[in-house]
Amino acid sequence: MFNKLTIDDIEVSGKRVFCRVDFNVPLDENGAITDDTRIRAALPTIRKLVDSNAKLILASHLGRPKGEANPKYSLAPVAPHLSELLGRPVAMAPDCIGPQVEGLVSALNDGDVLLLENLRFHIGEEKNHEDFARQLAALCDVYVNDAFGTAHRAHASTAGVPALVRPAAAGYLMQKELQYLGQALAEPQRPFVAVIGGAKVSDKILVIENLLGKVDTLLIGGGMAYTFLRARGVATGKSLVEEDRVELAAELLAKAQQRGVELMLPEDHLMADSFSAEATPVASDGVTIDDSLMALDIGPKTRERYARVITGARTVVWNGPMGVFEFNAFAEGTLAIARALAETDCLSIIGGGDSVAAVNKTGLQDKMTHISTGGGASLEFLEGKQLPGVVALSDR
Ligand code: ADP
Ligand code: MG
Repeated sequence: MFNKLTIDDIEVSGKRVFCRVDFNVPLDENGAITDDTRIRAALPTIRKLVDSNAKLILASHLGRPKGEANPKYSLAPVAPHLSELLGRPVAMAPDCIGPQVEGLVSALNDGDVLLLENLRFHIGEEKNHEDFARQLAALCDVYVNDAFGTAHRAHASTAGVPALVRPAAAGYLMQKELQYLGQALAEPQRPFVAVIGGAKVSDKILVIENLLGKVDTLLIGGGMAYTFLRARGVATGKSLVEEDRVELAAELLAKAQQRGVELMLPEDHLMADSFSAEATPVASDGVTIDDSLMALDIGPKTRERYARVITGARTVVWNGPMGVFEFNAFAEGTLAIARALAETDCLSIIGGGDSVAAVNKTGLQDKMTHISTGGGASLEFLEGKQLPGVVALSDR
């Protein structure tokens, strides 16, 4: 199923290997790394390349410097941190292209590691300028992409360089992400259940449409549920409803029925009179939402019903929280999904920045089969799209 070359398929000893990683880590105002998850996620690939005697050139973006060098977005703090994790020196380059960088690359010995400065300090990165891609390509003999989180973008470092450098192979993180997501969508063990939530229907239309052709049951929660309920003629009070998507929601409900997919909507809610962390949660009697209230989470009956469906599933894909989990009083619905997944012996795949944050809040991360590191990329994958950064890699 995974038809691209991986780093296990290629010869890297003594070669200059350009490895695109995702070191887009959060920094505090002093430039200290506040969460190194993304650096750690790339370690297996980095270790493999170093142990195979590659001359390793690591490249990443950080933040949105918009094509200009800006010390606020420098990758410099990552070099000592990575060095500590790896237990070997990591040199920091002053830029990602140019004569100075070329000099540093040609001085590399087998097994050495050089971290290039932020790719997005050059406008050519996000614009995928051929000239910029050529300068990066000139640094190396072999290309590796382990940055799943940016695979949905056709940038110079994800699409331009691999078009010029062969072989172009997937790193372990990239491979793992694609295998889990791909397996779930292409050959799911059934029952296959998707849990879709989050704020807006408009963000997830394509995901829902794609999954309707694959899943047995679709559980809908979060802010988008109220646009669906409105489409069914339910009173939604002050809840988030995208008026211009009600018709589309009705079409999706009809499509689910035609395809024999069971699409479930909340039957009760936790409501509040305002969108606030201090608001007192009010449980609804049934599905109807009072005119003066807004639903901020699924209610206890829905929690129980959704958990029961998950318990019976063999494959579960989850994207989007069931409520405003950032407010403790409205986190229970989302937590219930995480708990049900943790208790069920199924393939569980979680994608989406906020959903992953919610699962991490539960401490149940280790009970999930796969937690995707790429919010946008995993969403586009679930939409059934080809990711440019994957398409660009050499076929097996
Ligand atoms: P993900 O990042 O996992 O793809 P989204 O970005 O689509 O998820 O949605 C997450 C956001 O949806 C959260 O900030 C959450 O507060 C919000 N949300 C969930 N339920 C509701 C609701 N009932 N009303 C308003 N916002 C909601
Ligand atoms: Mg989000």
